[in-house]
Amino acid sequence: EVAVLRYGHRPGRDDRMTTHVGLTARALGADRVILPDNASQSRATVADITDRFGGPFEVEQTAELDATIDRWSGAVVHLTMYGERVQDVAGDIRQRHRSEPLLIVVGGEKVPFEVYDAADWNVAVTNQPHSEVAGLAVFLDRLFEGRELAQEWEDAENRVVPQASGKRVVDGDGAADES
Ligand code: SAM
Repeated sequence: EVAVLRYGHRPGRDDRMTTHVGLTARALGADRVILPDNASQSRATVADITDRFGGPFEVEQTAELDATIDRWSGAVVHLTMYGERVQDVAGDIRQRHRSEPLLIVVGGEKVPFEVYDAADWNVAVTNQPHSEVAGLAVFLDRLFEGRELAQEWEDAENRVVPQASGKRVVDGDGAADES
């Protein structure tokens, strides 16, 4: 199992970012996202996309971000620009994930030092400042070595048919919807 924990959320300001953490986790192979309790709007959006475009994928909320990390029975990765280089540690993390669930923590505004301490790995996708969405995407791709790109989706209402040009969306059962 791979779960993503969104650590911190400022309602209003972070709505799109938190939603995108959830959508990126879903699209790139994680099994679930855990959002802070004040991010209900993002939760609803991610759940709606999962209903329309398929799963399996779970969205949860918690009031206990620290306890979620402390009680995790498995390995914890915290994505931060200050961490070890993803290209140096991805192999060890992959190895550990063969036998244990993985929790990936991504921050928002400010991540307290306790999170760095609680993590088994603090991992940097470059040591440059950028975004939790970008960091998560590259990390998941390195973790799954590209296999997530070929994921099949279950119970989808909508399925996009890849096109060189234009948009084609069909029902989950294959009937043409629009073009
Ligand atoms: N300045 C904040 C701090 O030091 O705690 C972090 C703000 S940053 C906009 C938000 C999140 O993006 C971080 O908590 C981290 O998860 C992620 N992030 C930003 N740059 C990253 C990088 N180079 N590698 C991995 N994750 C990164």
